[in-house]
Amino acid sequence: MRLSRSFLPTLKENPAEAQITSHRLMLRAGMIRQTAAGIYAWLPTGLRVLRHIANIVRHEQDAVGAQELLMPTMQSADLWKRSGRYDAYGPEMLRIRDRHERDMLFGPTNEEMITDLFGQAVKSYKELPQVLYQIQWKFRDEVRPRFGVMRGREFYMKDAYSFDLDHASAVDTYRRMMLAYLRTFQRLGVRAIPMRADTGPIGGELSHEFLILAPTGESGVFFDSALEDQDWLGENVDLNDRASLEKFFTGMTSFYAATDEMHDADAWAKVPAERQREGRGIEVGHIFNFGRKYTRSMDIAVSGPDGAPLYPEMGSYGIGVSRLVAAIIEASHDDNGIIWPASVAPFRAAIINLKNGDAQCDAICEKLYAAAPDDLLYDDRAERAGAKFADADLLGHPWQLIVGPRGAKDGKVEVKNRRTGERTEETVDAALALIA
Ligand code: ATP
Ligand code: MG
Ligand code: MG
Ligand code: MG
Repeated sequence: MRLSRSFLPTLKENPAEAQITSHRLMLRAGMIRQTAAGIYAWLPTGLRVLRHIANIVRHEQDAVGAQELLMPTMQSADLWKRSGRYDAYGPEMLRIRDRHERDMLFGPTNEEMITDLFGQAVKSYKELPQVLYQIQWKFRDEVRPRFGVMRGREFYMKDAYSFDLDHASAVDTYRRMMLAYLRTFQRLGVRAIPMRADTGPIGGELSHEFLILAPTGESGVFFDSALEDQDWLGENVDLNDRASLEKFFTGMTSFYAATDEMHDADAWAKVPAERQREGRGIEVGHIFNFGRKYTRSMDIAVSGPDGAPLYPEMGSYGIGVSRLVAAIIEASHDDNGIIWPASVAPFRAAIINLKNGDAQCDAICEKLYAAAPDDLLYDDRAERAGAKFADADLLGHPWQLIVGPRGAKDGKVEVKNRRTGERTEETVDAALALIA
């Protein structure tokens, strides 16, 4: 992308409405604009990050055998009347009436719809287990939308739903999904710690929230730092073997981690003092086994081995894709702007031409740019060097390729690492290899 032709409205001043860093930086970096309270348009740079995150999420869901589908955002109230949640959900649900006076709603979540779709299609226990997911916009009429896309009213969520024959199989599914989540967050370049969450009236132990540490988080968190040091991508788990899944899960859950709601002072006291971490966290994911709650209330059964009706056990698994954009920024920035993990950055690098119109500078920049025009942002504007540096730091590209007349004479590029600030002089080829 050539910056001179991009729709990339950066702001020099801090917008007054933004109370936290990520919101400020997303507005300043031209990633989003608010169009109504808690509702945002995603501008090209913001959309790039949103897509990169969604693709990593998608890849790891597919890797544990979940299948992607896409359900509508608009739902019929009838579905929710069948589960009994239409009245129970309360004012967070945006209710709409169509021209024929039918009650509709903008989906805040999709348990009812997926259970109905499942029931229409799956008739026999032989077709279980099934795990289905989508990445789709949700609407929750939050009382206090705030902090930009961190708590929006319209937001982008990955929601998966599982159907299993019995509890043991549902537990396997839950553990596979746990691993998928840990790998997803690791690939996103952040540490999200899984913490036991309240299972409410259903009970059991199978609910975890995933929290990213940041001072602006809404939950207090307590965890064993050993959880930060695990390499989940390298962890060898046989997804089709119950014992292997159990070993992984018991190993992971042996380390203490809880939000303030679930905190247990006695268990905490047993964590070695040097490994105790206490702070604030942002909820970026939540997984939950809720047994037969929806299959029973909506009367969705398959025929079991003996021909008798069997109500599958379900779970649901959410990741806040749009919230993650903000959460990653909360966890990774400095005074000058965003520091993107390479896996989600809108562009791999910025090419900064320090002297537009200088034949050698222009030639080197064009050569760099031609290597990956979709992944590089070429700052070809007739701006001062200082303004270009400031924008590149603000936008947070992992690398900056700086081309000035002195180096260009010798065919050299200065390569700056955004995170460490380290700079080295490289040939064009070496620079391209470094940022690949
Ligand atoms: P919160 O406690 O922040 O209100 P929640 O527990 O109501 O979230 P879930 O129903 O567990 O949310 O939804 C799954 C994920 O969707 C959450 O972990 C979060 O990352 C994301 N999410 C929920 N509400 C919002 C929102 N208003 N804006 C952006 N993301 C959201
Ligand atoms: Mg909520
Ligand atoms: Mg919550
Ligand atoms: Mg939750």
